[in-house]
Amino acid sequence: MRKIIFLALFGFASVVNAHEQKAHVHGVAELSLAIEDKGGVIAFEAPSESIYGFEHAAKTPAEKKARDQAMDKLKNLGKILAFDATLGCKIQVDKIDAFVTDDDDDHGHSSHGDVHASFKVNCSKPLKNSEVSFSFSNAFSRLNTLKVQIIGDDKQSSVELKKGNGKIKL
Ligand SMILES: [Zn+2]
Repeated sequence: MRKIIFLALFGFASVVNAHEQKAHVHGVAELSLAIEDKGGVIAFEAPSESIYGFEHAAKTPAEKKARDQAMDKLKNLGKILAFDATLGCKIQVDKIDAFVTDDDDDHGHSSHGDVHASFKVNCSKPLKNSEVSFSFSNAFSRLNTLKVQIIGDDKQSSVELKKGNGKIKL
């Protein structure tokens, strides 16, 4: 467990670092799910535009409310990412963060906002060969594509879910 989670997080961190060098793609979020036996870790990354509608730091009460409501939806990940109910999985927030990076890029932004989140998953039965369902469009209507990477001990796969909805076999 420890090794695969370390690899998943390390891989994610390097993706995040690379990501900050180049423009992110609005409407596209990335999620990785690393599983081993009865547990796993989930890492999620998205432009804040796709999560709560803007990229600058929230200033007005309305903006803060929009941000907080969207972040709450992400915190309650179990409502939009469901493991097989018979596995008795619990999803816990590890870290969740929204931040703005200044960027003198060439595509019309003075800054970019990103949301990063990570979660721990603990189940009472092994996750292998079970199905996980995603219904992200319920929470994040601006999301066009959710790129999902599944990392297991003997396989790795990538799936793109339109509007962040669909099912993936682990
Ligand atoms: Zn942007």
